[in-house]
Amino acid sequence: VNTIIEILREHGIPATPQRIAIAEYVLSARTHPSADDAWTAVKKKHPTVSRATVYNTLNLLVSKRLLKTHLLQEGITVFDPHVDHHHHFIDESTGEIHDIEWDAIKVSGEDSLHGFEVHEYQVVMRGRKKK
Ligand SMILES: [Zn+2]
Repeated sequence: VNTIIEILREHGIPATPQRIAIAEYVLSARTHPSADDAWTAVKKKHPTVSRATVYNTLNLLVSKRLLKTHLLQEGITVFDPHVDHHHHFIDESTGEIHDIEWDAIKVSGEDSLHGFEVHEYQVVMRGRKKK
């Protein structure tokens, strides 16, 4: 928790107990939670935390570049503490979102997109785990 408080302070975010709990949950998450997932998790310890506080804190963490958002499935924004470039694999049978290391997938041809300057891209794969 101390490190979470330090991270919040370093980024100019006042560390209230609710914000610490939200940041602790989402910055250690490996599951790509939605805002409602975070709300559900944080409510277990802080039953009075409001949806707005969770949303505002998540957006604050995004604006400080501690989190990234991805729209990987229609209508659901997920939060990702893994802010370096990487790809995603969505397991269609469970809905789980797995990180794929950047170097594991090769994308080519972005140089041939005349008239476009590419700043960012990622590969989103869907399938299932092999048995
Ligand atoms: Zn990810």
